[in-house]
Amino acid sequence: MSTSYLAQRMASIEASGIRRIWALAASRPNPVNFSIGQPDFDAPEAVKAAAIEAIRRGQNGYTLTAGLPQLQEAIAEQVEREFGWTRPAVLVSSGLSGALLVGLMATINPGDGVLFADPYFVSYRHLVNLLGGQCQYIDTYPDFSLAAERIEAALQPNSKVMIVNSPANPTGAVYSADQLREAADLAGRNDVLVFSDEIYKDFSYDGPAESIARYYERTVVMRGFSKSYGVTGWRLGYLAAPEPLRGLIEAMATLQQYTFVCAPHPFQQAALTALQTDVGEPIRHYAAKRDMIYEGLKDHFDLVRPAGAFYAFVRAPQDRATPFVERAIEHDVLVIPGSVFSRRDSHFRLSYATGDERIQTGIERLCRLAQA
Ligand code: PLP
Repeated sequence: MSTSYLAQRMASIEASGIRRIWALAASRPNPVNFSIGQPDFDAPEAVKAAAIEAIRRGQNGYTLTAGLPQLQEAIAEQVEREFGWTRPAVLVSSGLSGALLVGLMATINPGDGVLFADPYFVSYRHLVNLLGGQCQYIDTYPDFSLAAERIEAALQPNSKVMIVNSPANPTGAVYSADQLREAADLAGRNDVLVFSDEIYKDFSYDGPAESIARYYERTVVMRGFSKSYGVTGWRLGYLAAPEPLRGLIEAMATLQQYTFVCAPHPFQQAALTALQTDVGEPIRHYAAKRDMIYEGLKDHFDLVRPAGAFYAFVRAPQDRATPFVERAIEHDVLVIPGSVFSRRDSHFRLSYATGDERIQTGIERLCRLAQA
């Protein structure tokens, strides 16, 4: 075929490296799968029942672009309580991924800078590149904390948005109140808008995760139902911001109108139940899994004790992640090389969102490989 139908923008993005690992692993009969980015627990019964009931009641059509009014209200009440915002603007989105897309599309011109921590959640880099923006990496090695001087080193005159992700994928870092306050201060002095990606908000094991929105009013809070309620396939999230940012949220809603149209209606109905449902119990088990991973690996690998999400970002022997990951796959353990999430390839990401026995087996295999 001589004609390429591909748009030029496709040259700026590439397929997720995670999927490449899955393809490599496809031939392995029963690997320990530490590559998964979703919890291993199912949605709470009441939340599932609410979705089924909504479908049965015929609540299957479009909703308003910005979401069901009762859901917008429930979200607004929650963020009002948390941040003291009056009349916050809310947009129910198609997952946090949908929030990121409309959020970045509404704000980033070609050449605008977007700051985020390296290592980062993969979508940030690709979405920014897709829009012709400039990725401005905040180097957080080796402890993955968000120190002010690290942000300062990444800031440029064209910096416009900073994405703050705490608890973080892929490192499991949870930023302290002091760090968030300092980040807020720097953002304010440099007129930078903050997107706070709080998808792992409920997965914080050493105390509640703080939001930068408490310290900075030019923050768009982005949250999702995917991980907390075990409903990654429902595609449900939201954006919320204080009243002065209402115009921005409305622009994002306009983009949603022409892209996702609205978040799935029956799941928006179920979200009303989800917001009333405590997810403490399944998540408490994740604290124990975190301990298992850290205690199991720390004598054989260099790793920072993760404080949240369900990932550990572990230093590979000789700082060479890809060859180590290939060996791990040959020994039936699936992990992801750091180069998927970073400009470096010195670490690998491990997700412990799996059964305890599998975690134990995986730890044993990895430790054996580290000694080999
Ligand atoms: N943000 C981070 C940091 C994530 O890790 C993920 C999913 O892995 C998302 C956003 C996307 O979540 P959603 O399922 O709500 O689109």
